[in-house]
Amino acid sequence: MNVETSDDRILAILGGKPVRETYLPYGSQYIDDEDIQMVISTLRSPFLTQGPKIKEFEDEVARFTGAKYAVAFCNGTAALHGAVFAAGITKGDEVITTPMTFAASANCVRYCGGTVVFADIVPKTCNIDINQIKKKRTDRTRAIIPVDYTGQPADLDELMDFAREYGLIVIEDAAHSLGATYKGKKVGSIADMTMFSFHPVKHITTGEGGIITTNSEEFFKRLILFRSHGITRDRNMLKNQAEGPWYNEMLDLGYNYRITDLQAALGISQLSKIESFLKRRRTIAQRYNEAFTGIDGVVIPYQKDDRNSSWHLYVISLNLNHLRVGRREIFEALQQENIGVNVHYIPVHLHPYYERLGYRKGIAPVAESVYETILTLPLYPSMSDKDSYDVIKAVKKVLDHYRAAH
Ligand SMILES: *Cc1c(COP(=O)(O)O)cnc(C)c1O
Repeated sequence: MNVETSDDRILAILGGKPVRETYLPYGSQYIDDEDIQMVISTLRSPFLTQGPKIKEFEDEVARFTGAKYAVAFCNGTAALHGAVFAAGITKGDEVITTPMTFAASANCVRYCGGTVVFADIVPKTCNIDINQIKKKRTDRTRAIIPVDYTGQPADLDELMDFAREYGLIVIEDAAHSLGATYKGKKVGSIADMTMFSFHPVKHITTGEGGIITTNSEEFFKRLILFRSHGITRDRNMLKNQAEGPWYNEMLDLGYNYRITDLQAALGISQLSKIESFLKRRRTIAQRYNEAFTGIDGVVIPYQKDDRNSSWHLYVISLNLNHLRVGRREIFEALQQENIGVNVHYIPVHLHPYYERLGYRKGIAPVAESVYETILTLPLYPSMSDKDSYDVIKAVKKVLDHYRAAH
């Protein structure tokens, strides 16, 4: 199919009609009969929660990422909370993260009473800037939470080297980057702890769900404890002599953050399809890259050669100097075309909660200015080829309409 010529013809025919008749969301799950059967068979088993599927799922994720341990949680945010707890973060401790992320990457620090320090991003990749981290580090800094924005891993070698030099713990928020590689190595075994989310828009889903992978036995044990009320039956961990077979101890203030066997069963089935999911995401991203290269008014997402993105999101940047309108008009025009565009993200420090804590506009100027121009286009494995060509058509149509005359 020659996209260029069919575009021109269709645009001419459509005139004022939207490119699509039905709305195309920006992200969605892919569930097949195999997934459904896995959940049904677990429903018929003796275990709905805390059964064999959780350990099986954890083992599969550990194997896939190359990590030694994995601990599943009821969602990615709970998993991040667990990681920050395991890292021993408490009141008075500072944790550095990026403002160009979902609020959960910062909130997890607040849950443990820690202070969030935002380090600005590199404009091209929108990942955290190691030079800004160096500027923001103090004697109270205990950890760094980098985010692999859109699926492209952050500068992990530089981050790990810096963290080792100052005794900091790195918790990688890899909610976007299941299956991504960094210098040939899979994300999940590089940082001290790595978090993946299984929300339906992410690479694989368990409905709600998340996991921490780690190579550290100490972190692993603390994560297990935290996930289930802080209670253990492990004889090696008890403070007192076991009074009998029923005996358990609550060692810390944990939560009930467990995932169910039903969800884990879905996760196992979903993970078995990860390679085809990744391939499909990469194919569509490549198609977008080719279609938008050289199109006036749009900048395609910059990718570094030494890492392979898992393409959770496809985020373009609008070159507003070349357009007659702002990002808002482009966003609304694409919604009119039934293309489910989105914006990832409103910089976290600009949310009223963080403003109330004293954070102000101006602390991360790069993130703040990037935010003004970004637009997320639909990208997920269950999109058809036609869906992806509709996105391309709609973007070209809207940009052509609003392009500034030279
Ligand atoms: C999705 C996401 C999370 C939170 O995951 P949930 O499973 O929705 O709690 C955290 N950080 C980032 C960057 C995310 O995209």
